[in-house]
Amino acid sequence: MSHKPESANDQGQKKRKRKKRTKQTITCAVTHIRLIEANPGKLAALDQLLEVYLPLCQQYVALFCTQETLPDKYADPVFATVLSDRLHRVAMQQAAGIAKSWRTNRQAAYDAYLEDLADYAEAKTQATASGMPLDPKRIEPTWKEWNLPELRAPAIQANANVVAVEQSEDSTFDYWLRISTLDKGNPLHIPVKLAPYHKKALQGRTLNTSTTLHKRKGVWWLTLSFDLDVPVETESSAQKVGVDVGIANFITTSTGKKYGSFHGKLARRHTRDREKRRRKARLRACLKKKGVEKRPSTSSASGQRLGRHVRQEINRAVNQMIADHPNARIIYEDLSVASMRFKARSMNAYLYASNLAHIPEQIAWATAKRGMAAHTVKAAYSSQECHRCHYPDRANRPDQQTFKCILCGHRDHADHNAALNLARRFGDTELAACKNKGEVKTRLLRRHEEWKKQYGLAVVQPAVQLGLWDSYGKCYGQFCLLHPPASSPVPSQQETNFGIIHTPCMTYTHRQSARVPTS
Ligand SMILES: [Zn+2]
Repeated sequence: MSHKPESANDQGQKKRKRKKRTKQTITCAVTHIRLIEANPGKLAALDQLLEVYLPLCQQYVALFCTQETLPDKYADPVFATVLSDRLHRVAMQQAAGIAKSWRTNRQAAYDAYLEDLADYAEAKTQATASGMPLDPKRIEPTWKEWNLPELRAPAIQANANVVAVEQSEDSTFDYWLRISTLDKGNPLHIPVKLAPYHKKALQGRTLNTSTTLHKRKGVWWLTLSFDLDVPVETESSAQKVGVDVGIANFITTSTGKKYGSFHGKLARRHTRDREKRRRKARLRACLKKKGVEKRPSTSSASGQRLGRHVRQEINRAVNQMIADHPNARIIYEDLSVASMRFKARSMNAYLYASNLAHIPEQIAWATAKRGMAAHTVKAAYSSQECHRCHYPDRANRPDQQTFKCILCGHRDHADHNAALNLARRFGDTELAACKNKGEVKTRLLRRHEEWKKQYGLAVVQPAVQLGLWDSYGKCYGQFCLLHPPASSPVPSQQETNFGIIHTPCMTYTHRQSARVPTS
């Protein structure tokens, strides 16, 4: 039995919606039920159906993805087909599901791009205003339009109208599948024999009416599913554990533990796989020039194996994390694949991203299965916000692993700081109400101001006391970046709400006075 939902996206959405109740309904899929060729020709009818079904479904996918209105699986059919009305509707429903998640993901990616662009523009304005060159590492974000989804894996997501599962009367088989095909009024009857582990998984369950048929390497497979109600056992007083998702460590918890990593073996395998695909792509380009029609595919078996391996490693990391925090309330980032891409910016973004997205999915699934409470919170600035003083700034992250607040000097491992922030965001209605990243930042800056009023003087000592500044605000210190020694390079500085920050020595001028953090 596999717990992998057929469509991770749809499942994820369902789970999120259901999370608020004290009872969670999870859908378990029973996969890899092989359809046996009872007599020749039977499954050939299924192949013929697929030849008509897939192109039609693809047509609707393209339509639903590009039309202005949202995909509507109950819309009037627009394409002509030899399929029955019921099969036609099933194709439309499948296409609408694919188009819906594609549109959501694309929109999220586009929004992330726009925010990134605004971020970049702001940094550029600041750089111009302060007369300093922009950090050369910052590149203007660009948008590349997404390709429409292509139905590569032949699959039919059916409902009871076209594929019915009937209990078998005699003992040789477990079920009969009644499948409508191109031959109207003459449905196919295909026997289904379950393996012992399928039987165990399905024992006493009520099957859902939706089924999936898919073909892989010439073999037809059936996926059945059933719903399971799992009571949530987490106490309301349970410890809140924040979970940060990343590359160096798949998971870092606010309790200071780390699980799994992309670095090391996985990264090396990934590099090898990428080189292989590049070589193949060059070969393809070369053959294409020469007019060779049959060219090697760029999708590699080793790449698929690697993907599977990464997901296994992720599952292991998630399970370990849960085993270490059995009674906790898990708080994790509400990250889409798109925003993951931006998170993984510096490293090989896309491939990592598609794998990283598996982590929150697995957290949602693994906790739901165990009746544990898990919640997503807004991720914006969680890795840049200082857990002590709330100040959000890219400059707080001198490198991938380090968090060092440029204002209060708070130091931590970057992922741990983020995990703590996430845990704190559970139940934070103010942040949850923010409509975009900009609003989150404004809110965090306001909190920083409040923090300063409350603790500022205790943590940040006036520079006067350290002897760097006299009472007129004139500098005497050798570390002063307003007046650096002639030999030293021009310091980077940026304008903020409260003055100019001099990043390298963590000093900043605030109106008339200057303060130096203690740390
Ligand atoms: Zn701080």
